[in-house]
Amino acid sequence: MNLFLMLLLSGIVACGAHSTGDLASRLLLVSFDGFRADYLDTYKLPYLQEFIEDGVLVKQVTNAFITKTFPNHYTIVTGLYEESHGIVANDMYDADAKKKFSQFNDSDPFWWNEAVPIWVTNQQQGNGVSAAAMWPGTDVKINDTTPRFFMKYNFSVTFEERVEKTVVWLNSSNPVVSFATLYWEEPDASGHKYGPDDTENMRKVLEEVDNHVGFLMKKLKASGLWDSINVIITSDHGMASCSAQKLIVLDDCIGRNNYTLIDKSPVAAVLPRQNKRDVYNLLKKCNSHMKVYLKEEIPDRFHYRHNKRIQPIILVADEGWTIVQNESLSKLGDHGYDNALQSMHPFLAARGPAFHRGYKQNTMNNVDIYPMMCHILRLTPQPHNGTFSNFKCLLADQWCKSLPEVIGIVIGAFIVLTTFTCIIIILKNKVPPSRPFSRLQLQYDDDHLLIG
Ligand SMILES: [Zn+2]
Repeated sequence: MNLFLMLLLSGIVACGAHSTGDLASRLLLVSFDGFRADYLDTYKLPYLQEFIEDGVLVKQVTNAFITKTFPNHYTIVTGLYEESHGIVANDMYDADAKKKFSQFNDSDPFWWNEAVPIWVTNQQQGNGVSAAAMWPGTDVKINDTTPRFFMKYNFSVTFEERVEKTVVWLNSSNPVVSFATLYWEEPDASGHKYGPDDTENMRKVLEEVDNHVGFLMKKLKASGLWDSINVIITSDHGMASCSAQKLIVLDDCIGRNNYTLIDKSPVAAVLPRQNKRDVYNLLKKCNSHMKVYLKEEIPDRFHYRHNKRIQPIILVADEGWTIVQNESLSKLGDHGYDNALQSMHPFLAARGPAFHRGYKQNTMNNVDIYPMMCHILRLTPQPHNGTFSNFKCLLADQWCKSLPEVIGIVIGAFIVLTTFTCIIIILKNKVPPSRPFSRLQLQYDDDHLLIG
């Protein structure tokens, strides 16, 4: 009986996990910056929907705190929380090295070398090289390596040019490009400018983004890559509406000579120049819509404490609020807030031979994307914060059943087998016992008696 059950279960496993072969080993990772998860429900995006129906969708991705661009793009490609990969903000200061980092001064490998991104690992371990049509860090020599093909970051390069370049790289056979990234600045730029609730302007930009997805699909189909390549489309963060009525003005609470503001709203990094405790106390009383943490008090769930680039005091504005020193507000949308907020979450969609078709799940973490990509590319991952069970149901080569489902299958199989055995026993009992063959023999004397 046990042997039969094992055979039955292994049969089910084999059916669920169809082989993906070599086709599963190429991957294109796409980010549309600032694509909030619920834009998918709010706007009509036919190309993205077509992509999703043919693949998988994770409706909300919990990203890393702080929910800003550079830190989250590096989390996606390393599987590490920000305290572990070292890109802890869009603006940073390292007190030991006395170095500054900003989006205009981001090319010093010093900032990136605390982690090894997947494009480096892919070239060290993989069956091919990496390429990047932009992605934070891809034009920097991290661990002494850049992707074999890359573009220097330049926002004026159109999406179409980035795609054309990517397709040329992916069609190269010597060397074979097994991993590529593609980055686009929208809908983030429009989200900041108009605010995510300006449906008229957001509809326009999201239709553009959707057309970009259509263009990418068309180019991949025309070049014969569509059936063999895996494509992940995701984003770094969402967007919240902000307004001039929701300002936290630091100048009202503390003199500027008391501190240096390293990173700005909505998570501000404060380096005290005077007594840290005095600065902290002044800020703590400043505004009820802002949480103030000493570095050692930052909640565990943020995974945002153990790095010297995290400043001694961190200010976290409530959703929709903006921390300023005294400036007026120049935008209607922002991100960076608490990563538990739904408005900060992006989505993830994926399609290709490595993924199931038509499968949807509600959540995963963006630290899970890295080990998922390593699995697809058959790379041994670097140490990371991801969890395999969070994404295994997306993968075509994994058998995805919960424990209750497995118990149900085992009980069902047991009932079937018991019934089957009982039927055999009953049928067996109904067959008459066998008797030795005997011929009826008439005696000569009997005939005689009857006649008589
Ligand atoms: Zn961003």
